[in-house]
Amino acid sequence: MAEIRLWNTRTRSKEVLQPIDPDNVRMYVCGPTVYDRAHMGNARPVIVFDVLYRLLRHVYGPEHVTYVRNFTDVDDKINKRSQESGRPISDITEETIRWYHEDMGKLGVMVPNHEPRATAYIGEMIAMIQGLIADGYAYAKEGHVLFRVREYADYGKLSGRSVDDMIAGARVEVAPYKEDPMDFVLWKPSTDDLPGWESPWGRGRPGWHIECSAMSLALLGESFDIHGGGNDLMFPHHENEIAQSRCAHPEGKFAKIWMHNEMLQVEGKKMSKSLGNFFTVHDVLEQGIPGEVIRFVYLQTHYGKPMDWTAEKARQAQATLRKWRGLVEGIEPSPSPAPEVIAALSDDLNTSGAIAALHKLAGEGDLAGLKASAQLMGLLLDEMGDWVATRFVDSGGLQVGVNAEVASMIDDLVEARTKAKAARDFAEADRIRDGLSAAGIILKDGKEGTVWEFGELVDLQKLEELQ
Ligand SMILES: [Zn+2]
Repeated sequence: MAEIRLWNTRTRSKEVLQPIDPDNVRMYVCGPTVYDRAHMGNARPVIVFDVLYRLLRHVYGPEHVTYVRNFTDVDDKINKRSQESGRPISDITEETIRWYHEDMGKLGVMVPNHEPRATAYIGEMIAMIQGLIADGYAYAKEGHVLFRVREYADYGKLSGRSVDDMIAGARVEVAPYKEDPMDFVLWKPSTDDLPGWESPWGRGRPGWHIECSAMSLALLGESFDIHGGGNDLMFPHHENEIAQSRCAHPEGKFAKIWMHNEMLQVEGKKMSKSLGNFFTVHDVLEQGIPGEVIRFVYLQTHYGKPMDWTAEKARQAQATLRKWRGLVEGIEPSPSPAPEVIAALSDDLNTSGAIAALHKLAGEGDLAGLKASAQLMGLLLDEMGDWVATRFVDSGGLQVGVNAEVASMIDDLVEARTKAKAARDFAEADRIRDGLSAAGIILKDGKEGTVWEFGELVDLQKLEELQ
């Protein structure tokens, strides 16, 4: 059995994964708050932990891995979106969850074993909060329940901060119901226009952190193997999860290994709405970039390093995948992935090393090995290959995916026009140009010949009639 080593943020060392129960390797990853489409940064942990999930299933057996990723469906951001749009909360959360499944599915991401929604675990959260109050780790005041951070001696260990450093550096909220500014909310009161549940502290709703503690306990138990998420969640979210869970269940270990992925940039810059480089996964898919290409670009960078999304990388990834798909067409994958690919992935998910090994397999002509190994990483899967029938054309500076058949139909018509012109049959040349124009295809004559691009609307019917 391959030995998997993972960098543990908690101990700051690479550790051999020794599952608590090899018959049930357990992983929890913090999922999205569902009020909007997932952006390109959100997709990184989803892809990273999908590769780990696939590796764990390969090593321990598919039925011996339990992967939980939650949906946060109660949150002030959702409430705000509902108030702004006038749409019911459930419409927004249901729609966003559907989008999430669609978008992540296109990236070749497997659905985890459990996708708990926070609103289905309110009772478990209340029970955990009651226990924390009973043991003196939490207190209720003015309809709020707060966690007493100074009661948990190891607070800050994960991110390597002391409580006093955190007070100095963090945006801690001072409030009259708090004993200490660092104390964080477990429960807060809801007004009538906000979602709320009856509790011993009045009608209210949970704080964000308690949901992951309650859902991981319900689905994975007091101790489990791996907890993952973006490194932007390390503080305060993960520190708070640890404090709640360890104090509520001191006999449990909560998560043994903590894994954090680094952030994503676009063309060397932080993605932000003000810079105009903020993209959702859906935006990029709509630009005609296949999900498999996005996945490949992500896996070229180790999860522990910042990754830069660039159009050039996408172009190269597309060329590589197109070539590989051509090579493995009709080839039966070998029964087991190549040892060097498993070795690279087992070394703290060295996905860039694994891709280098895939290039080597392609170069050596081990196509069955290439296919099996790429599939272990969620690449070259049969169900993700439709895009290869697509050709990419430059249209107004944008790469647009076109069905290859349609593209060659247009190519043929453009060529027929060029020939007609050469034969001085201008009536025929004009007929083709006008017909293409009516079908929404714009021709540009230049020194290098004629190129075409799409106009606003393309009418396939007219295009076919023109042939
Ligand atoms: Zn969480």
